[in-house]
Amino acid sequence: MAEALAHAPQTAFDLSRLFNRYNLQYFGGQLRPSPGFRLRFTHAYKTAGCFIYCRETHVDWEIRIARHLLDHPRALRGTLVHEMIHMLAHQQYRQTGDVRYLDRSPQAGKPFINKGHGAFFLAELERLNSTHPELGLSVFSSTADPLYDRDRIPPARLLVVHIDGGDRGMIYRLHPEAPLSWITLCDTAYCLHGTTSSLLLEVDDSLAEGFPQLRRDNRARRNMKLRALRHFNRVLSDLFSASGTICLRTDKAHLSTTPDTPAALFEAA
Ligand SMILES: [Zn+2]
Repeated sequence: MAEALAHAPQTAFDLSRLFNRYNLQYFGGQLRPSPGFRLRFTHAYKTAGCFIYCRETHVDWEIRIARHLLDHPRALRGTLVHEMIHMLAHQQYRQTGDVRYLDRSPQAGKPFINKGHGAFFLAELERLNSTHPELGLSVFSSTADPLYDRDRIPPARLLVVHIDGGDRGMIYRLHPEAPLSWITLCDTAYCLHGTTSSLLLEVDDSLAEGFPQLRRDNRARRNMKLRALRHFNRVLSDLFSASGTICLRTDKAHLSTTPDTPAALFEAA
């Protein structure tokens, strides 16, 4: 199966072929997409995939897959099959009217993780993982997952903003497609926290998960909550001690006020 996936699909047409193949291989061909259903790639980075349906009729509308998964064929397969389980759940609901397929709430004695990932979903996931262990399906997607090819994941970049002289702070993930501009990043730090005291770090992608991501131009999102990171100093210290972490840029004021930070990691500002 891994060989068959070696050349990842490049077009929406190929995504449909993949869907049809998986439908036969993993679902016995039982998925019958609603008229107008489509598959498409998105530029989303944080969300690997999602299934979109009509809230009133539960008709299938769309499965979206993050385009960067083309670099990770096994993760692409796992993500698409995950979304196909959701699609199956809604199809079963349309056919039977049994709301239990939708996994909206826990059922007594059965596992429940969150809405959509309850008894039906988890049973299907377990069925597929036991009959096709190569799938490695999971409820949550993460680039730390072994389905991702480590060598093809570029490092992530983080903007570290020091608040109140440095004891408190916040960390943001830069948008992977944004042009890198230190002036823009300082401006973003100032807009969010009223300070330009910041660092630009490059870290292993798996360490960057969970930090809020800046807009595609590396500016603050409108809905970004102004807050400080819990255990900021410890988180920062862990980032510095991780292998592969590089400090790409810092403001000079920060260099002179934090002697504990490994000086060797800094380049001239
Ligand atoms: Zn899901």
